[in-house]
Amino acid sequence: MKDTIDVADNTAAKVLQVQGVSKSFGSNQVLRDVSLDLSKGEVLCLLGPSGCGKSTLLRCINWLETPDAGSIRLNSKRFGIHKGGAKMGDADLARMRARIGMVFQHFALWPHLSVIGNIIESPIHVQKRNKQEVREEALALLAKVGLQDKADMYPASLSGGQKQRVGIARALAMKPDILLFDEPTSALDPMLVGEVLEVMRDLADEGATMVVVTHEMEFARQVASRIIFMDSGEVVETGQPAHFFNAPQTLKAQQFLTRFH
Ligand code: ADP
Ligand code: MG
Repeated sequence: MKDTIDVADNTAAKVLQVQGVSKSFGSNQVLRDVSLDLSKGEVLCLLGPSGCGKSTLLRCINWLETPDAGSIRLNSKRFGIHKGGAKMGDADLARMRARIGMVFQHFALWPHLSVIGNIIESPIHVQKRNKQEVREEALALLAKVGLQDKADMYPASLSGGQKQRVGIARALAMKPDILLFDEPTSALDPMLVGEVLEVMRDLADEGATMVVVTHEMEFARQVASRIIFMDSGEVVETGQPAHFFNAPQTLKAQQFLTRFH
């Protein structure tokens, strides 16, 4: 019997849809007609050489950069533009952006706030949630990332790996629909990379929907549902990790991968 649901056409099931996104800075075209989509529970690993546009793409996804062309949809809702075509105001943009959790290479923790202060800040001030409830959830999130005893410490007294785990807990505290990671382990001492990847792997196992920009090929191979390889602002190749790593189709992907062997 034929399946009655055509998954490919079932756009409502997509958490994220990026369609034809282009972006230039002056005369430098950084993204060229980039399209990708992501279903709930998928982990997309975004690979590509430095400068190919990965961070710009993530910043377009949460509208920190406005694409010159194309569209971003989160749970079918278009970013930046209301149904009738009018531009979204700041409050609506902020509300939509809050559905996307972002984890940065350099952590971007607030230095003047304690660990728990960093985690509860946005749920309380942006989402206007109950402080006591948010605090309790924050303590549970700290336990989840293995930092239950660090709630009252300040970021400056933490290792890089601990800071990044706080960064992940902070993103999770907003209960986002999707998590974006921009090279979350690239600034870390190699000794500390594993503890962060382990937390990310747990999230993936629990069904989190994630876009991960990384140079950790082993992580990508093991955890990704799908790989997207970019070069010079374009999606060059996309596929299952086993296929991409064992039999890359394009010369550019082959050349890129030889650097990691
Ligand atoms: P990646 O994350 O893959 O290393 P980026 O998205 O950071 O690549 O950068 C892609 C290109 O866009 C680079 O040439 C970079 O210099 C340029 N770029 C990124 N952000 C800006 C900006 N805000 N203004 C001007 N150029 C930028
Ligand atoms: Mg980058």
